[in-house]
Amino acid sequence: MVEGARYDAWLLGRAQDGGLPHLGCERPCCAEARASGHVEYPCALGIKDRQTGELLLIEATPAVEPQIAMFHQLAGASGRGRSPVDGVLITHAHIGHYTGLMQFGEEVAATDHVPLHVTPRMADFLRSNDPWAQVIEYGQVDVREVQPGASCEPLDGLKVEFIAVPHREEHSDTVAFKVHGPQRTLLWVPDVDQWGRHDGLLAELLEGVDVAYVDATFYDGSELPGRDLSRIPHPLMIETMAMWEDEAAARPGVVRFIHLNHTNPALHDPALRAEIESKGFVIGEVGEKQPL
Ligand SMILES: [Zn+2]
Ligand SMILES: [Zn+2]
Repeated sequence: MVEGARYDAWLLGRAQDGGLPHLGCERPCCAEARASGHVEYPCALGIKDRQTGELLLIEATPAVEPQIAMFHQLAGASGRGRSPVDGVLITHAHIGHYTGLMQFGEEVAATDHVPLHVTPRMADFLRSNDPWAQVIEYGQVDVREVQPGASCEPLDGLKVEFIAVPHREEHSDTVAFKVHGPQRTLLWVPDVDQWGRHDGLLAELLEGVDVAYVDATFYDGSELPGRDLSRIPHPLMIETMAMWEDEAAARPGVVRFIHLNHTNPALHDPALRAEIESKGFVIGEVGEKQPL
């Protein structure tokens, strides 16, 4: 128990945008998952205000329906009908992070003015492209623009900082979120380019943070033969662990890895996971709770 916590955050998924099994992958990582029924959803987080019962979703992934169902179960929420959540935050316009918004629309949930907190560039992208433009036009979500560097209050009393992070900007900019509860602060940074190219970025993001969900798309880069990794830049887990070796040993469990690609051996190999955890790092477990 964390004394005085007002909010609970649950991890609702920990995979990269394509989840697992991954379309087009016939390697053992996904062939075995298809055979066994093992599913990993793209990364998302659900936060509940214990005082009001209100629910906030971070990232609307292609698996938004089963993830919100899991969120309701974990949060003990029922009878929500067409108001599945009370707010949504989205980091950027890559498919694993926002395309679930289409299910808020006319053909599916037809939600009623759910506040959607995004950067102005992300808002422009959504307003300019169907089916998301229609979801906005029909009032199923209400866009609330938040400048990178500024913050919003998507649940009563919960301050969320929008922090610009470098990431491929095909459609929008990309932000990380720092979520400030009365007791603990949570960092959400599922997608970012290499730390090394941007001096001090990781340290800046982790400052004042009690729990950090961090991009772990690739383990050591050897898991994607035939793909040019310079075109899909992400920090390698081995680099993140090397940079944060001392801090992770001193504060085990603070850095928790998410956004694992289907090929990432840390998702499949228990021995490797044990080695990672012996250094004080953790692979996020779906359903784990963080009081804030
Ligand atoms: Zn992603
Ligand atoms: Zn695979």
